[in-house]
Amino acid sequence: MKILAMNDGDFLSDTLALIDLACDLTGIDDRHRVLLKNVSRRLSVEYPVVLDDGSTTIINAYRFQHCNARGPYKGGVRIAPTVSEAEVAALAMLMSLKSAVLGLPYGGSKGGIVVDARKLSPCEMERLCRGYIRAVFPVIGPANDIPAPDMNLSQDAIGWMLDEYEMLAGRYEPAAITGKPRVIGGSHGRATAVARGGVYIIEEVEQRRNIYYSTYAIQGFGNVGGSLAKILHGMDRTVVAVSDSKGGIFSANGLDIPAVAKHKAETGSVVDFPGADNITNEMLLQLGVDVLVPAAREDQISEKNADQIKAKIILCLANGPINQKASEILSARNILVLPDVLANGGGVAVSYFEWVQGRQGYYWSEEEVARRLKDLMKNALYDVYRMSLELRCDMYTAAYALGVRNIVEAMEARSFG
Ligand code: GLU
Repeated sequence: MKILAMNDGDFLSDTLALIDLACDLTGIDDRHRVLLKNVSRRLSVEYPVVLDDGSTTIINAYRFQHCNARGPYKGGVRIAPTVSEAEVAALAMLMSLKSAVLGLPYGGSKGGIVVDARKLSPCEMERLCRGYIRAVFPVIGPANDIPAPDMNLSQDAIGWMLDEYEMLAGRYEPAAITGKPRVIGGSHGRATAVARGGVYIIEEVEQRRNIYYSTYAIQGFGNVGGSLAKILHGMDRTVVAVSDSKGGIFSANGLDIPAVAKHKAETGSVVDFPGADNITNEMLLQLGVDVLVPAAREDQISEKNADQIKAKIILCLANGPINQKASEILSARNILVLPDVLANGGGVAVSYFEWVQGRQGYYWSEEEVARRLKDLMKNALYDVYRMSLELRCDMYTAAYALGVRNIVEAMEARSFG
């Protein structure tokens, strides 16, 4: 069987190296290791989208399914001009690991659409999303593979995707896609779930260590980083820096987050926010804050800049922002890294709640969703902590080891491999 090549990109090679390390630590044999280091199905499609000027463009897109030993494949769809097969493969692997760390009955998958979302009008975006669902329809469904939002995919866009799916299926099928608007079967709390889950993790660490983390730097101001900044602002924590793809801003006394959000809506970026200093994304990572939150892209902290980090803890809300070598350096410096497969699991956790509600046709209150999310995140944090004690390793490595062990247990129960 072909093992994905280590030279298919930094992010994929870092993810494969992590899976290897996790397999070494938990004594996983080669048969299962090969399955974990591959994706079981790679669907690559090309489909036409009509633009507003009447011309047609051909879009390249993917749906990669990593492993379904624990349950149906589950994972978001990312829209970006830079999306590559290697990136989608690594993200699908992280989804399997994440669901396994959180104890959700899912496997992992990921989708990607190679286009610059900022260049599309809302009508073009709708045609792009509907076309994607028509192209991947044969491999998705509530018991097969359940798409969800990822980078640049809004709640409205998920609504169009669900509508397209239901028209093709010829029946209502609310559990087919998660992250949709509530009026068509979405769940309370899904839009802010990644950020909210991260906050529950921070609060539990604070309680356990008897510490209060007051200052935050957040890389990213989209669905995840923007929601987190708003929640922290509402909790009277001090967000001293935020950023987007154009750059970052810093104010030692704290940023007025609702005003920053307004500035971004008006100008297209957080940069040049009145009263704050412009900084680069690299500078943001090196600020002396209590909590650093990478909430944008993969490959942000590596062995090249890990010794410049001054935060006390790092909450990884992006997928793959830190590689394993960096995590070793940070752990030796006593900086706690709460890895992606634990810290950003709130998104897929509330997607799971949405899927459960859709399948039973009975919808929960906002309080019920919040209570269940808090319990789930807290339990996962302690499962990872126990794994770190068992293996005598840091929380970052322990999370991957726990994910790998949980997946392989299910593979063994099914005689996979
Ligand atoms: N895209 C999110 C993630 O990377 C959520 C996936 C989901 O809800 O299925 O975790």
